[in-house]
Amino acid sequence: MSNVSEDILRVHGLSTRYFTDDGQVNAVSDLDVRIEQGEVFGIVGESGSGKSVTARSIMGLIESPGRITDGEIWYRDANLAEAVRDDQPDAVDGDQVDLQQLPEGIRRSLRGTSFSMIFQDPESSFNPSLTVGEQLAEAVEVQRRASANPRSTKARTRGSAYSLTNYALSTVLPSRKYVSESSRERAVELLELVGIPDPVERAEEYPHEYSGGMLQRAMIAQALAGEPDVLVADEPTTALDVTIQAQILDLLDELQTQTEMTILLITHNLGVIARMCDRVGVMYAGEIVERGTLEDIFDDHVHPYTRGLLGSIPDIERAGQRLQPIPGNVPSLLDHEMANRCYFADRCPKAMEACLSHPPELDVDDEHHAVRCVLAETEYEESRAVPDEYFEDDGPVTDGRVDPADLEERPAEQEPTAAVEDGGGERR
Ligand code: SF4
Repeated sequence: MSNVSEDILRVHGLSTRYFTDDGQVNAVSDLDVRIEQGEVFGIVGESGSGKSVTARSIMGLIESPGRITDGEIWYRDANLAEAVRDDQPDAVDGDQVDLQQLPEGIRRSLRGTSFSMIFQDPESSFNPSLTVGEQLAEAVEVQRRASANPRSTKARTRGSAYSLTNYALSTVLPSRKYVSESSRERAVELLELVGIPDPVERAEEYPHEYSGGMLQRAMIAQALAGEPDVLVADEPTTALDVTIQAQILDLLDELQTQTEMTILLITHNLGVIARMCDRVGVMYAGEIVERGTLEDIFDDHVHPYTRGLLGSIPDIERAGQRLQPIPGNVPSLLDHEMANRCYFADRCPKAMEACLSHPPELDVDDEHHAVRCVLAETEYEESRAVPDEYFEDDGPVTDGRVDPADLEERPAEQEPTAAVEDGGGERR
């Protein structure tokens, strides 16, 4: 478990919309999350729940036709706050800066140094025509040059590991090599840091010569090139087999302990969450529906969706019982198709009449365990349950497990829709 102190990131009321020909898609709605310095915060949910859009919103990587329409993203960095205070006074509060109010140029300069991102598909993240070492060295060089540019916010906030003379020479002498020898050496060091054997030789190889696991390690190395404060890892192990997944998770864990870096981990895999995270947010239909510590989520959960996700994990102690997927699908997030009720109601085994009047608010207890469900305040009463006819298809999930005898009456093969797998990890 990492050393946790004050918040490094505080997201408040974040909403991201996509404006499509079919209408407005509410991909993320009114999201509140705070992430403490040095912790691993996980966001878990099914495909289409808004996890990756959340990550991209924080990184400032939402592309047209999407747009952040509301909210604040407060990032704690005293040097940055000092550097932008005069020009952007409204964006600064003490040693925190609202990234949403910064010009795109400054925001861009923070990517790679303050924030870095690991994507789920390493193969599409590397240029196949350049060696891995060359690409890593270039990433290092870009960060160093940005730090050396006296006009950049980064130079004012981070100082420079690259001499001003070097910067000036490379600006006026285009023939001078873009990537310096020291950046190449750093690239090899980074490959070594992420456990690539024979890093000097491997740096000379092309991406197609790397295995999937090695390429994922190389991508982590690339993300670390600018020594970021916050690493956003979007499904970092999804494309890998289980053994390699475990190695990559070990590596991230080790790097996090060494560097005390903060990690925002996006995954559909509760095994990964259990293994890596300090706190968790469960996402559904663009909203955080439950948030808390690992214990809150695994042992003391309230939201039926959280319960359904947990019921989808294989458990060796419950051998003989079949897994119960959550029936149905994540609802459409098109604004005109979203009903004015709890968005999970169509799939919920505890749905009551009260759940159909309006979407529930996020209810936060004293210990910061937050739940967006009427059950946070009201006991389930069967007499007030929504009648069976309300549910389409096979009805709501039960309590997460079913007796094999009951399955005989169920339709032959039903596709699981809760994309939750066991990550092969053990709960810490
Ligand atoms: S508010 Fe009602 S329908 Fe929604 S998750 Fe809670 S119990 Fe289920």
